[in-house]
Amino acid sequence: MDLKPYIRVIPDFPQPGISFKDITTLLNDGEKYKEAINAIKEMVSELEIDVIAGPEARGFVVGAPLAYALGVGFVPIRKSGKLPYETIEVGYDLEYGKDKLAMHKDAIKPGQNVLIADDLLATGGTIATSVNLVRELGGNVVGTAFLIELSELNGRAKLPDISVFSLAKYD
Ligand code: AMP
Repeated sequence: MDLKPYIRVIPDFPQPGISFKDITTLLNDGEKYKEAINAIKEMVSELEIDVIAGPEARGFVVGAPLAYALGVGFVPIRKSGKLPYETIEVGYDLEYGKDKLAMHKDAIKPGQNVLIADDLLATGGTIATSVNLVRELGGNVVGTAFLIELSELNGRAKLPDISVFSLAKYD
């Protein structure tokens, strides 16, 4: 599908120089939201997926419906301090800022095939950190899937040995 007509682009948000890709306009359109999730489902159809993991918050709005569509489980990857049970944590840099991501220690069973989903691939820091968390728990990362990829930031370079799927690319 052509996703771009449903993405609102906001210049200089949240700071000068960032061209923010706002997916709330897609989420607001039930038919197109469903079409986008189904298009990702189609893109990853060759993969064997046991579980989907997604970083908060927009990784949830892509990963959870995708997991539902595939009939597999969903694992939330959250900011430090949000998960109630025992966690592992990894620090990382954002396109704008720094943060820490966490997963429950028992969220992935060793050897499970995991697809990591998020709304957007920018520098790749968030996803590379998510990959490290999943691997630390013994998961096998079979791919990563996004609505949007910012090609110029070359996030793929941080995922050299992993399949990257995206519906729309921006320069
Ligand atoms: P990164 O770690 O640099 O790949 O950044 C990816 C995360 O930050 C994604 O979860 C996005 O939700 C968010 N993000 C980064 N850059 C943008 C952007 N230009 N527009 C919208 N969201 C962004």
